[in-house]
Amino acid sequence: MARRWVVGNWKMVRAQPTVPEWLQSAAQQPTRAGVDVSVAVPAPYVFLAQQLLQGSSLAWGAQDVSWDEEGAHTGEVSATMLAESGCSIVLVGHSERRLRFGETDAQVTAKASRARAAGIRPIVCVGELAAERRAGKAESVVGAQIEALLVGLHGDLSGISIAYEPIWAIGTGVAAAPEEAAAMHGFIRHQLGGSATSTPLLYGGSVSAENAAQLMSLPDIDGVLVGGGSLRTESFFAICDAAARCVGV
Ligand code: PEP
Repeated sequence: MARRWVVGNWKMVRAQPTVPEWLQSAAQQPTRAGVDVSVAVPAPYVFLAQQLLQGSSLAWGAQDVSWDEEGAHTGEVSATMLAESGCSIVLVGHSERRLRFGETDAQVTAKASRARAAGIRPIVCVGELAAERRAGKAESVVGAQIEALLVGLHGDLSGISIAYEPIWAIGTGVAAAPEEAAAMHGFIRHQLGGSATSTPLLYGGSVSAENAAQLMSLPDIDGVLVGGGSLRTESFFAICDAAARCVGV
């Protein structure tokens, strides 16, 4: 796949030095041929992102979405509301939500389905714990998450991206070794079968300006999901520059 995807995830942290400054500086960024750049901001900043990024080279989105269409679901945000706020991506099933809020594969699939129906690209996160990898279960854990998605969406992954984020690499400063990342991406690509060529596969977990180009040069890694490295524009756009160098590789 020739294109590259870079997605920022601020989590529940403010971009630096301030959110408006980050967005204003991002709005000045040139288009990088062959690279799709987006940022998943905390819900209260979606409207500001819409105001400041409209017409720029950056897309914006959210970090979660309700599986319900509408109704008495206090605290939830619907896919339609996100679409009305110009969101074109949404993270779904991030490990922090699966672990801290007990999100199940069925709920993750329902959220992805709801987002896609509203015209928003869900980025479905999968990944294993360190203990699971040590026990030799990394592929079975990730494989089960992918299988649930495939079954729930009747094998149709159009409009969906998948992010492999080994949980032990998130926020640790230690990314997966290139051979570990490549092996898992190859495994996922193989499991996707018919959807294999059109589903962007992103790697996430301690991606930095230093390791981004190497990761995105590996087979089956189409882009990166960036947490801590997206909080400052310098590092985030250095990662986007690395992605531009990997287009067509
Ligand atoms: C993430 O939260 O999706 C993530 C990959 O975080 P970090 O880049 O900080 O490891």
